[in-house]
Amino acid sequence: MRRIASWIDGLTDEASSEQTSPVFDPAAGSVQAEVALAGPAGVDAAVAAAKAASVLWGDTSIAARTKILFAFRELVASHADELARIVSSEHGKTIPDAAGEVQRGLEVIEFACGLGQILKGDVNDQVSTGVDAVSFRQPVGVVVGITPFNFPVMVPCWMHPVAIACGNTFVLKPSERDPGASELIATLWKQAGLPDGVFNVLQGDASVVQQLLAHPDVDAVSFVGSTPIARSVHEQASRTGKRVQALGGAKNHAVVAPDADISFAAKHITAAGYGSAGQRCMAISAVVAVGDVADGLVEELHKLAEDVRVGPGSEASTDMGPVVTASSRDRIIGLIDTVTDEGATLVVDGRKVQVDGHEDGFFVGPTLIDHARAGMRSYDEEIFGPVLTVLRVNDMAAAIEVVNANQYGNGVALFTSSGYTAREFTRRVHVGMVGVNVPIPVPMAYHSFGGWKDSLFGDHHIHGEEGVRFYTRAKAVTIRWPEPSTGSAGDAGSDFHFPTSS
Ligand code: NAD
Repeated sequence: MRRIASWIDGLTDEASSEQTSPVFDPAAGSVQAEVALAGPAGVDAAVAAAKAASVLWGDTSIAARTKILFAFRELVASHADELARIVSSEHGKTIPDAAGEVQRGLEVIEFACGLGQILKGDVNDQVSTGVDAVSFRQPVGVVVGITPFNFPVMVPCWMHPVAIACGNTFVLKPSERDPGASELIATLWKQAGLPDGVFNVLQGDASVVQQLLAHPDVDAVSFVGSTPIARSVHEQASRTGKRVQALGGAKNHAVVAPDADISFAAKHITAAGYGSAGQRCMAISAVVAVGDVADGLVEELHKLAEDVRVGPGSEASTDMGPVVTASSRDRIIGLIDTVTDEGATLVVDGRKVQVDGHEDGFFVGPTLIDHARAGMRSYDEEIFGPVLTVLRVNDMAAAIEVVNANQYGNGVALFTSSGYTAREFTRRVHVGMVGVNVPIPVPMAYHSFGGWKDSLFGDHHIHGEEGVRFYTRAKAVTIRWPEPSTGSAGDAGSDFHFPTSS
């Protein structure tokens, strides 16, 4: 059986792994590989390698770093199909969907290729007579990235290209559910000419995360995953004095205004709700139908949900693949079980879906719930499966109240034909990423990604300018060069009082 291992100091690491965990083919419901989970010796070795490499890498010129970033970009682009196939086989998403995530990851690498530009500092000439001021940013040191199963290429790419471009070294702890792509990414960094120890991968589960959070030589932690773990990672890393950003879960609403094009909205909501079997942090999971759009919208959503082709991600005819594990499937079905008892209506029921030839696969069919409201588990909890839940409200003010009352604030989409409604909504909604007639408003790499409320703990969003700030520390330098012949550069002499400009 294929064995997936950690990558430490430029080499595959088998020696320090103690236990293994199964990696499934979710469409078949069978084990396809095992991942060797790192133990304490592996964690220490990876952090030691990253710490040792950080001195040289932090001093490597922008010109040399840029060349490696460009070479890495070319290698990832030329291995995009292979990466997409690995992701699809371990996660279950369709190959075009997996190719889309590789493309969005590549865009972050391309952003990081411009490190000469993004790391530019500020200069003020003559802040005082004969004195100049310079501000610039330097790396934080050893950065750890802890990532979720749902985007095994893109989410790590939100982190390591930017952190490494900024002069840091990196230890990636990918999800143990789909770890295969991280092995290939490590070898591509090496082929690109990255020195050993700058990029390391530690395969493992919660116990590896705990060791990394407690490790004195880890300087910064980027985490993406579910809200309870994000909150706890943020608290633990802060307690040990580390810089930390922790992105959590989501309940993304699509608000459909009374003046929206219902057919356009329904098509986009269906694709954004059921694509990747609803396992995207920016998936639409709640639909807020405003005023009299509700009946027509639910009718359209119903028809479209029944047309979704469910099957293995490797087949070209498939719109929606399985969910990642049997326990995910059982959890999603358990939440659908609560719908009618809690007073909502189950319009389309995906619990009994069967895929011919894949009877043991982890499939859940598209599910549509109507007449939901806050207080019901199927609305309150993050389902992270192919389930759309419709809430009905009277007007736009009530729609904004629903979105703002929700604990999560990752993404939201508004469907409308009114610029005024869009502007008001955009300004008043308490959510980090907003789409206007765009269902999945994932920002481009040169903007920053991040939610509000329980969708992000910490001060910085990820990638873009915010990512660069997270991975660097500011330094302000005040400079005087006295004229050599006189020893003076307009210098009035030394003072015993606090320095002021003159
Ligand atoms: P998860 O929280 O279970 O796992 C995330 C990472 O944390 C994994 O590497 C995992 O090994 C590790 N982990 C798991 N339990 C841990 C524990 N007790 N202590 C320390 N580390 C632990 O998340 P998941 O199921 O892999 O991914 C789905 C979740 O991620 C969803 O909630 C989704 O909304 C969220 N997500 C959020 C974003 C975002 O940008 N906000 C992006 C992608 C996914």
